[in-house]
Amino acid sequence: MILDQIFDAINTGILIIDTEFRVIKWNRWMEIHSGLSEDDIKGVNIFDKYPDLDNTKFRRSCKSVFSFGNFSFFSQKLHRYLLPFTSKSLLGNQFEFMQQSCSMGPLRDENNEIKYLFINIEDVTDVATYEHKLLEMNIKDGLTGIYNRRFLETKLEEEYKRCKRYKSTFSLIMFDLDHFKNVNDTYGHPCGDFILKMVSSRISAAIRNVDFLFRYGGEEFCCLLPETKLDAAVLVADRFRADIESQNNVFEEHVLNVTISIGVTEFIAECESGVDILKKADEALYTAKKTGRNRVISLR
Ligand code: GH3
Ligand code: MG
Ligand code: MG
Repeated sequence: MILDQIFDAINTGILIIDTEFRVIKWNRWMEIHSGLSEDDIKGVNIFDKYPDLDNTKFRRSCKSVFSFGNFSFFSQKLHRYLLPFTSKSLLGNQFEFMQQSCSMGPLRDENNEIKYLFINIEDVTDVATYEHKLLEMNIKDGLTGIYNRRFLETKLEEEYKRCKRYKSTFSLIMFDLDHFKNVNDTYGHPCGDFILKMVSSRISAAIRNVDFLFRYGGEEFCCLLPETKLDAAVLVADRFRADIESQNNVFEEHVLNVTISIGVTEFIAECESGVDILKKADEALYTAKKTGRNRVISLR
């Protein structure tokens, strides 16, 4: 009786099931978040009510608790959630369902036999949302939402090492907006920002989902294409170039056209590091600028 009052007062879920997976206890927190009263679910097999539970390691964990009397932890990082409850985070709706960390353990009778299993469910949606946002801020650019320079440097070294080890390859495309200063000077900085977002979103939509697009600097971008040889990367780069050139961009009452210059290079085993490859792409880009802009130059 007193225990029931405690169960209903605490701010986490308490679920107790018997060896047949029938619900014995469903505290007030569980009622609020599931929309099911304890009377509705008492005696019901938990897998009948939540069939998707069988797609998780939950049944196995329960069996292990019943057989060996151990305690088990069901982490949010691995499983996201145990039961599909909705939850709103003040930090934004990053997740479809409440993120949960759960612990479970045995409940024994007076003969020390395991009769029940308790599961404690904790709502960790806020923490998980916060972690997700921190990670995003660390690797993404605020204006365009694509990856930032820090992540480019990480990814480039990773890819460099992978290719060296597995004798594989990748290509790097570096591009820069032509006469972009004129855009800012003529139409204002917000118009410049609008163009940067347009370029990012068009190129993001054009690449494969194994490729990465980064904002390298102000109006300079890089695209890393794993398992791609130089010739193929040059074709991709020229598609980028033609696509950006063909856009009639409408900002307020103005229609403006912009172009990009592109340098392309491919990994070669003689390179000392990822940064070397970046330097080569930059050299190629510099040549593209010098020889007239709105063009693709490759360098082996
Ligand atoms: P080039 O063809 O040689 O590349 O000429 P450019 O004018 O594009 O190059 P320059 O390096 O002279 O100018 C780059 C401009 O990009 C200057 C800077 O104000 C602008 N820029 C850099 N970052 C941002 C940004 O986040 N937003 C806006 N609106 N402009 C930016
Ligand atoms: Mg420029
Ligand atoms: Mg530049």
